[in-house]
Amino acid sequence: MTSQVVENKKLLVLLIDGFRWDYFNIPGLQLPGFSRLFEQGVKADYMIPDFPTLSFPNFYSLMTGLHTEDHGFVGNYMYHEEKQSSFEYKMVNLESNQSHWKKRTYMFEWPGCHVPVHNMTSTFCDKMNEWPMVPQTVNNLKKAVDLLKTDKIDFAGVYLNAVDRWGHSYGPNSKEVFDIVKQTDEAIQEMLLLLKTYNLEKNTNVVIFSDHGMTEISESRTIDISDHIGSVDVIAVEDKGAVCSIWPREGKIDKVYTGLTSMGNSHIKVFKKETLPDRWHYRNNKLVAPIIVVADLGWYILTPGGPSIDKYMNGPAKGYHGYDNAEEDMHGIFLAMGPDFKKNYKTGPVRAVDIYQVMCKALKIQPLPHKGDWSRLKDIFK
Ligand SMILES: [Zn+2]
Repeated sequence: MTSQVVENKKLLVLLIDGFRWDYFNIPGLQLPGFSRLFEQGVKADYMIPDFPTLSFPNFYSLMTGLHTEDHGFVGNYMYHEEKQSSFEYKMVNLESNQSHWKKRTYMFEWPGCHVPVHNMTSTFCDKMNEWPMVPQTVNNLKKAVDLLKTDKIDFAGVYLNAVDRWGHSYGPNSKEVFDIVKQTDEAIQEMLLLLKTYNLEKNTNVVIFSDHGMTEISESRTIDISDHIGSVDVIAVEDKGAVCSIWPREGKIDKVYTGLTSMGNSHIKVFKKETLPDRWHYRNNKLVAPIIVVADLGWYILTPGGPSIDKYMNGPAKGYHGYDNAEEDMHGIFLAMGPDFKKNYKTGPVRAVDIYQVMCKALKIQPLPHKGDWSRLKDIFK
Protein backbone atom coordinates (compact mmCIF):
# COMPACT_ATOMS: atom_id res chain seq x y z
CA MET A 1 0.00 0.00 0.00
CA THR A 2 1.23 3.39 -0.87
CA SER A 3 0.68 6.24 1.53
CA GLN A 4 -0.15 8.54 -1.33
CA VAL A 5 -3.76 9.60 -1.14
CA VAL A 6 -5.62 9.00 -4.36
CA GLU A 7 -8.07 11.80 -4.83
CA ASN A 8 -11.55 10.43 -5.16
CA LYS A 9 -13.28 12.10 -8.03
CA LYS A 10 -16.99 12.72 -7.99
CA LEU A 11 -19.38 12.11 -10.84
CA LEU A 12 -22.45 14.10 -11.80
CA VAL A 13 -24.70 12.49 -14.42
CA LEU A 14 -27.52 14.28 -16.22
CA LEU A 15 -29.94 12.13 -18.20
CA ILE A 16 -32.01 14.19 -20.63
CA ASP A 17 -34.90 12.08 -21.86
CA GLY A 18 -35.53 12.26 -25.62
CA PHE A 19 -32.79 14.76 -26.53
CA ARG A 20 -32.12 14.03 -30.19
CA TRP A 21 -28.52 14.19 -31.41
CA ASP A 22 -29.17 17.07 -33.82
CA TYR A 23 -31.02 19.38 -31.41
CA PHE A 24 -27.63 21.10 -31.07
CA ASN A 25 -27.90 22.19 -34.72
CA ILE A 26 -31.27 23.95 -34.74
CA PRO A 27 -30.74 26.93 -37.08
CA GLY A 28 -30.53 30.25 -35.29
CA LEU A 29 -30.59 28.71 -31.81
CA GLN A 30 -27.65 29.78 -29.65
CA LEU A 31 -26.81 27.26 -26.93
CA PRO A 32 -23.99 28.82 -24.89
CA GLY A 33 -24.19 26.17 -22.13
CA PHE A 34 -23.79 23.22 -24.46
CA SER A 35 -21.20 25.13 -26.53
CA ARG A 36 -19.12 25.58 -23.39
CA LEU A 37 -19.42 21.84 -22.70
CA PHE A 38 -18.18 21.04 -26.22
CA GLU A 39 -15.17 23.35 -25.72
CA GLN A 40 -14.36 22.07 -22.27
CA GLY A 41 -15.04 18.39 -22.84
CA VAL A 42 -15.96 15.53 -25.13
CA LYS A 43 -18.81 15.24 -27.60
CA ALA A 44 -19.81 12.07 -29.45
CA ASP A 45 -21.33 12.48 -32.90
CA TYR A 46 -24.39 10.69 -31.54
CA MET A 47 -25.46 7.92 -29.17
CA ILE A 48 -27.09 4.81 -30.66
CA PRO A 49 -29.73 3.53 -28.23
CA ASP A 50 -30.60 -0.10 -27.76
CA PHE A 51 -33.65 -1.55 -29.49
CA PRO A 52 -36.48 -0.82 -28.88
CA THR A 53 -35.58 2.87 -28.69
CA LEU A 54 -37.85 3.41 -25.67
CA SER A 55 -36.88 5.02 -22.38
CA PHE A 56 -36.96 2.22 -19.85
CA PRO A 57 -35.08 -0.42 -21.84
CA ASN A 58 -32.41 2.21 -22.52
CA PHE A 59 -32.21 3.54 -18.96
CA TYR A 60 -31.11 0.05 -17.98
CA SER A 61 -28.75 -0.40 -20.96
CA LEU A 62 -27.11 2.92 -20.13
CA MET A 63 -26.70 2.14 -16.44
CA THR A 64 -25.63 -1.50 -16.73
CA GLY A 65 -23.81 -1.71 -20.08
CA LEU A 66 -26.02 -4.66 -20.93
CA HIS A 67 -28.25 -5.07 -23.95
CA THR A 68 -32.01 -5.27 -23.68
CA GLU A 69 -31.95 -9.06 -24.03
CA ASP A 70 -29.41 -9.30 -21.17
CA HIS A 71 -31.04 -7.03 -18.60
CA GLY A 72 -34.56 -8.05 -19.56
CA PHE A 73 -36.25 -4.68 -19.64
CA VAL A 74 -37.57 -5.39 -23.11
CA GLY A 75 -40.38 -2.82 -23.37
CA ASN A 76 -42.39 -0.27 -21.43
CA TYR A 77 -45.15 -2.85 -21.11
CA MET A 78 -44.32 -6.51 -20.84
CA TYR A 79 -45.93 -9.89 -20.39
CA HIS A 80 -44.62 -12.72 -18.24
CA GLU A 81 -45.60 -16.02 -19.83
CA GLU A 82 -44.98 -18.21 -16.78
CA LYS A 83 -46.77 -15.86 -14.43
CA GLN A 84 -49.42 -15.18 -17.09
CA SER A 85 -49.55 -11.52 -16.25
CA SER A 86 -48.88 -8.21 -17.92
CA PHE A 87 -46.84 -5.61 -16.13
CA GLU A 88 -45.43 -2.21 -16.85
CA TYR A 89 -42.15 -0.49 -16.17
CA LYS A 90 -43.21 0.79 -12.74
CA MET A 91 -43.55 -2.75 -11.44
CA VAL A 92 -40.31 -4.22 -12.69
CA ASN A 93 -38.01 -6.15 -10.42
CA LEU A 94 -35.18 -7.08 -12.73
CA GLU A 95 -33.97 -10.61 -12.63
CA SER A 96 -30.41 -9.46 -12.84
CA ASN A 97 -27.92 -11.39 -10.77
CA GLN A 98 -25.46 -8.56 -10.63
CA SER A 99 -25.29 -5.47 -8.53
CA HIS A 100 -23.86 -2.60 -10.47
CA TRP A 101 -23.25 0.32 -8.19
CA LYS A 102 -21.07 0.13 -5.13
CA LYS A 103 -20.45 3.82 -4.53
CA ARG A 104 -22.52 6.22 -2.51
CA THR A 105 -25.04 7.32 -5.06
CA TYR A 106 -27.81 9.87 -4.95
CA MET A 107 -30.43 9.75 -7.66
CA PHE A 108 -32.78 12.70 -8.18
CA GLU A 109 -36.16 11.75 -9.60
CA TRP A 110 -34.33 9.06 -11.52
CA PRO A 111 -36.79 6.61 -13.08
CA GLY A 112 -36.51 3.23 -11.43
CA CYS A 113 -33.99 4.17 -8.73
CA HIS A 114 -36.44 2.82 -6.13
CA VAL A 115 -36.45 -0.59 -7.81
CA PRO A 116 -33.92 -2.96 -6.30
CA VAL A 117 -31.59 -4.77 -8.67
CA HIS A 118 -30.50 -7.92 -6.86
CA ASN A 119 -31.76 -6.40 -3.63
CA MET A 120 -29.60 -3.35 -4.17
CA THR A 121 -30.70 0.21 -4.79
CA SER A 122 -28.87 3.51 -4.88
CA THR A 123 -27.82 4.88 -1.47
CA PHE A 124 -30.45 7.58 -1.74
CA CYS A 125 -33.31 7.60 -4.17
CA ASP A 126 -35.40 10.69 -4.49
CA LYS A 127 -38.13 8.80 -6.28
CA MET A 128 -39.65 10.41 -9.34
CA ASN A 129 -42.98 11.96 -8.37
CA GLU A 130 -43.98 13.55 -11.62
CA TRP A 131 -42.15 13.88 -14.89
CA PRO A 132 -39.45 16.44 -14.01
CA MET A 133 -39.54 19.71 -15.91
CA VAL A 134 -36.62 22.12 -16.30
CA PRO A 135 -37.11 24.14 -13.05
CA GLN A 136 -37.27 20.92 -10.98
CA THR A 137 -34.15 19.66 -12.71
CA VAL A 138 -32.31 22.91 -11.93
CA ASN A 139 -33.34 22.47 -8.30
CA ASN A 140 -32.15 18.88 -8.32
CA LEU A 141 -28.85 19.95 -9.89
CA LYS A 142 -28.43 22.46 -7.05
CA LYS A 143 -29.11 19.76 -4.46
CA ALA A 144 -26.73 17.40 -6.26
CA VAL A 145 -23.92 19.95 -6.32
CA ASP A 146 -24.56 20.73 -2.64
CA LEU A 147 -24.09 17.06 -1.77
CA LEU A 148 -21.13 16.57 -4.09
CA LYS A 149 -19.23 19.36 -2.38
CA THR A 150 -19.53 17.49 0.91
CA ASP A 151 -17.91 14.13 1.36
CA LYS A 152 -21.27 12.43 1.66
CA ILE A 153 -21.67 11.12 -1.88
CA ASP A 154 -19.57 10.05 -4.86
CA PHE A 155 -22.19 10.04 -7.57
CA ALA A 156 -25.29 12.09 -8.29
CA GLY A 157 -27.74 11.31 -11.07
CA VAL A 158 -30.30 13.90 -12.19
CA TYR A 159 -33.09 13.22 -14.63
CA LEU A 160 -34.88 15.67 -16.93
CA ASN A 161 -38.05 14.57 -18.70
CA ALA A 162 -39.30 17.77 -20.33
CA VAL A 163 -37.50 17.45 -23.68
CA ASP A 164 -39.14 14.06 -24.30
CA ARG A 165 -42.55 15.30 -23.24
CA TRP A 166 -42.37 18.37 -25.46
CA GLY A 167 -41.10 16.20 -28.33
CA HIS A 168 -44.11 13.91 -28.00
CA SER A 169 -46.56 16.77 -27.57
CA TYR A 170 -45.44 19.10 -30.33
CA GLY A 171 -43.12 17.07 -32.58
CA PRO A 172 -39.32 17.35 -32.82
CA ASN A 173 -39.37 20.17 -35.36
CA SER A 174 -41.68 22.47 -33.42
CA LYS A 175 -40.99 25.89 -31.96
CA GLU A 176 -42.00 24.44 -28.57
CA VAL A 177 -39.21 21.85 -28.75
CA PHE A 178 -36.71 24.54 -29.77
CA ASP A 179 -37.83 26.50 -26.68
CA ILE A 180 -37.38 23.53 -24.33
CA VAL A 181 -33.91 22.89 -25.82
CA LYS A 182 -33.07 26.53 -25.07
CA GLN A 183 -34.38 26.12 -21.50
CA THR A 184 -32.31 22.95 -21.11
CA ASP A 185 -29.28 24.92 -22.20
CA GLU A 186 -30.03 27.46 -19.48
CA ALA A 187 -30.10 24.61 -16.95
CA ILE A 188 -26.69 23.51 -18.26
CA GLN A 189 -25.36 27.07 -17.84
CA GLU A 190 -26.66 27.06 -14.26
CA MET A 191 -24.99 23.69 -13.60
CA LEU A 192 -21.65 24.93 -14.96
CA LEU A 193 -21.90 28.05 -12.81
CA LEU A 194 -22.63 25.97 -9.69
CA LEU A 195 -19.64 23.71 -10.34
CA LYS A 196 -17.44 26.76 -10.73
CA THR A 197 -18.87 28.61 -7.71
CA TYR A 198 -18.33 25.63 -5.42
CA ASN A 199 -14.90 24.99 -6.86
CA LEU A 200 -15.90 21.51 -7.96
CA GLU A 201 -14.51 21.70 -11.48
CA LYS A 202 -11.22 20.08 -10.49
CA ASN A 203 -12.61 16.97 -8.85
CA THR A 204 -16.00 16.43 -10.49
CA ASN A 205 -16.56 14.77 -13.82
CA VAL A 206 -19.83 15.45 -15.61
CA VAL A 207 -21.45 12.99 -18.01
CA ILE A 208 -24.56 13.93 -19.96
CA PHE A 209 -26.56 11.62 -22.18
CA SER A 210 -30.03 10.98 -23.51
CA ASP A 211 -31.84 7.68 -23.99
CA HIS A 212 -33.16 8.10 -27.54
CA GLY A 213 -34.24 10.68 -30.12
CA MET A 214 -37.66 11.55 -31.54
CA THR A 215 -39.39 11.57 -34.93
CA GLU A 216 -42.52 13.18 -36.30
CA ILE A 217 -45.68 11.12 -36.48
CA SER A 218 -49.07 11.92 -37.94
CA GLU A 219 -52.64 10.71 -37.65
CA SER A 220 -52.44 10.02 -41.37
CA ARG A 221 -49.70 7.42 -40.81
CA THR A 222 -51.32 4.83 -38.55
CA ILE A 223 -51.59 1.09 -39.11
CA ASP A 224 -54.35 -0.71 -37.26
CA ILE A 225 -53.43 -4.36 -36.75
CA SER A 226 -56.45 -5.12 -34.51
CA ASP A 227 -58.47 -6.98 -37.14
CA HIS A 228 -55.51 -9.07 -38.22
CA ILE A 229 -54.47 -10.51 -34.88
CA GLY A 230 -57.57 -12.57 -34.13
CA SER A 231 -58.54 -11.82 -30.54
CA VAL A 232 -59.23 -15.47 -29.71
CA ASP A 233 -55.73 -16.42 -30.86
CA VAL A 234 -53.72 -14.10 -28.62
CA ILE A 235 -53.13 -13.92 -24.89
CA ALA A 236 -51.53 -10.49 -24.73
CA VAL A 237 -50.67 -7.54 -26.96
CA GLU A 238 -48.21 -5.16 -25.30
CA ASP A 239 -47.15 -1.66 -26.38
CA LYS A 240 -48.20 0.13 -29.54
CA GLY A 241 -46.84 2.93 -31.69
CA ALA A 242 -43.38 2.05 -32.96
CA VAL A 243 -43.15 -1.52 -31.65
CA CYS A 244 -45.81 -4.01 -30.62
CA SER A 245 -45.27 -7.35 -28.85
CA ILE A 246 -47.76 -10.16 -29.40
CA TRP A 247 -48.17 -13.33 -27.35
CA PRO A 248 -50.25 -15.86 -29.34
CA ARG A 249 -52.01 -18.78 -27.64
CA GLU A 250 -50.36 -22.18 -27.71
CA GLY A 251 -50.04 -23.41 -31.29
CA LYS A 252 -51.27 -20.14 -32.81
CA ILE A 253 -47.97 -18.42 -33.60
CA ASP A 254 -48.08 -19.29 -37.30
CA LYS A 255 -51.71 -18.30 -37.64
CA VAL A 256 -51.18 -14.90 -36.02
CA TYR A 257 -47.97 -14.34 -37.99
CA THR A 258 -49.72 -15.16 -41.27
CA GLY A 259 -52.63 -12.90 -40.35
CA LEU A 260 -50.25 -9.99 -39.87
CA THR A 261 -48.04 -10.60 -42.90
CA SER A 262 -51.10 -11.07 -45.14
CA MET A 263 -52.01 -7.45 -44.41
CA GLY A 264 -49.31 -6.69 -46.97
CA ASN A 265 -48.63 -3.37 -45.29
CA SER A 266 -45.25 -2.09 -46.44
CA HIS A 267 -44.84 0.18 -43.40
CA ILE A 268 -44.58 -2.57 -40.80
CA LYS A 269 -42.20 -5.47 -40.40
CA VAL A 270 -43.47 -8.60 -38.67
CA PHE A 271 -40.88 -10.80 -36.97
CA LYS A 272 -41.08 -14.14 -35.27
CA LYS A 273 -38.80 -13.91 -32.24
CA GLU A 274 -36.17 -16.20 -33.79
CA THR A 275 -35.88 -14.04 -36.92
CA LEU A 276 -35.25 -10.74 -35.12
CA PRO A 277 -32.02 -9.18 -36.45
CA ASP A 278 -28.86 -9.99 -34.45
CA ARG A 279 -27.91 -6.31 -34.42
CA TRP A 280 -30.86 -5.53 -32.14
CA HIS A 281 -29.63 -7.85 -29.36
CA TYR A 282 -33.29 -8.41 -28.68
CA ARG A 283 -33.97 -12.10 -28.89
CA ASN A 284 -32.51 -14.10 -26.04
CA ASN A 285 -34.87 -13.27 -23.25
CA LYS A 286 -38.09 -14.97 -22.20
CA LEU A 287 -39.79 -11.58 -21.90
CA VAL A 288 -39.40 -10.96 -25.65
CA ALA A 289 -42.71 -11.89 -27.28
CA PRO A 290 -43.02 -14.66 -29.92
CA ILE A 291 -44.13 -12.06 -32.47
CA ILE A 292 -42.84 -8.50 -32.74
CA VAL A 293 -44.28 -5.89 -35.11
CA VAL A 294 -42.05 -2.89 -35.87
CA ALA A 295 -43.30 0.20 -37.71
CA ASP A 296 -41.26 2.16 -40.23
CA LEU A 297 -39.97 5.47 -38.96
CA GLY A 298 -42.84 7.91 -38.43
CA TRP A 299 -45.59 5.28 -38.66
CA TYR A 300 -47.75 4.28 -35.71
CA ILE A 301 -49.20 0.85 -34.91
CA LEU A 302 -52.70 0.77 -33.40
CA THR A 303 -53.87 -2.29 -31.45
CA PRO A 304 -57.12 -3.49 -29.82
CA GLY A 305 -55.91 -2.09 -26.48
CA GLY A 306 -54.57 1.10 -28.05
CA PRO A 307 -56.96 2.11 -30.82
CA SER A 308 -55.71 5.69 -31.06
CA ILE A 309 -52.45 7.65 -30.87
CA ASP A 310 -51.31 8.30 -27.27
CA LYS A 311 -52.48 11.62 -25.91
CA TYR A 312 -49.96 14.15 -24.62
CA MET A 313 -50.29 17.75 -23.48
CA ASN A 314 -51.50 18.93 -26.84
CA GLY A 315 -53.80 16.10 -27.93
CA PRO A 316 -52.55 13.11 -29.92
CA ALA A 317 -48.75 12.78 -29.93
CA LYS A 318 -46.92 14.52 -32.77
CA GLY A 319 -43.58 12.92 -31.95
CA TYR A 320 -42.65 9.35 -31.10
CA HIS A 321 -39.74 6.95 -30.64
CA GLY A 322 -39.15 3.23 -30.23
CA TYR A 323 -38.25 2.55 -33.87
CA ASP A 324 -35.23 0.75 -35.35
CA ASN A 325 -32.11 2.05 -33.62
CA ALA A 326 -30.37 2.40 -37.00
CA GLU A 327 -32.67 5.33 -37.78
CA GLU A 328 -30.88 8.67 -37.37
CA ASP A 329 -33.89 10.27 -35.73
CA MET A 330 -33.69 7.73 -32.89
CA HIS A 331 -30.14 8.71 -31.98
CA GLY A 332 -29.38 10.55 -28.75
CA ILE A 333 -26.42 12.42 -27.27
CA PHE A 334 -23.33 11.73 -25.19
CA LEU A 335 -21.17 14.46 -23.66
CA ALA A 336 -18.55 14.41 -20.91
CA MET A 337 -16.50 17.04 -19.16
CA GLY A 338 -14.18 17.26 -16.19
CA PRO A 339 -10.68 16.55 -14.92
CA ASP A 340 -10.51 13.06 -16.48
CA PHE A 341 -11.76 14.00 -19.93
CA LYS A 342 -10.05 15.60 -22.90
CA LYS A 343 -11.04 19.10 -23.85
CA ASN A 344 -12.63 20.11 -27.12
CA TYR A 345 -12.59 16.50 -28.27
CA LYS A 346 -14.99 15.01 -30.79
CA THR A 347 -15.50 11.30 -31.02
CA GLY A 348 -17.53 9.06 -33.33
CA PRO A 349 -20.84 7.40 -32.55
CA VAL A 350 -21.16 5.58 -29.22
CA ARG A 351 -23.74 3.06 -28.07
CA ALA A 352 -25.96 3.06 -25.01
CA VAL A 353 -24.09 0.03 -23.65
CA ASP A 354 -20.75 1.87 -23.91
CA ILE A 355 -21.59 4.47 -21.31
CA TYR A 356 -21.62 2.30 -18.17
CA GLN A 357 -17.87 1.65 -18.44
CA VAL A 358 -17.18 5.39 -18.84
CA MET A 359 -18.99 6.10 -15.57
CA CYS A 360 -17.15 3.23 -13.85
CA LYS A 361 -13.78 4.52 -15.01
CA ALA A 362 -14.62 8.04 -13.88
CA LEU A 363 -15.51 6.63 -10.43
CA LYS A 364 -12.51 4.28 -10.44
CA ILE A 365 -14.63 1.20 -9.96
CA GLN A 366 -14.15 -2.08 -11.75
CA PRO A 367 -17.06 -2.58 -14.17
CA LEU A 368 -19.02 -5.81 -14.00
CA PRO A 369 -19.20 -7.82 -17.23
CA HIS A 370 -20.92 -5.67 -19.85
CA LYS A 371 -21.39 -5.33 -23.60
CA GLY A 372 -19.74 -1.95 -24.13
CA ASP A 373 -16.86 -1.57 -26.55
CA TRP A 374 -13.90 0.21 -25.01
CA SER A 375 -12.34 1.03 -28.38
CA ARG A 376 -15.13 3.51 -29.07
CA LEU A 377 -14.41 5.50 -25.91
CA LYS A 378 -10.88 4.97 -24.65
CA ASP A 379 -9.61 8.09 -26.42
CA ILE A 380 -11.96 10.44 -24.63
CA PHE A 381 -9.94 10.17 -21.41
CA LYS A 382 -6.84 12.22 -20.77
ZN1 LIG B 1 -40.83 9.31 -24.78
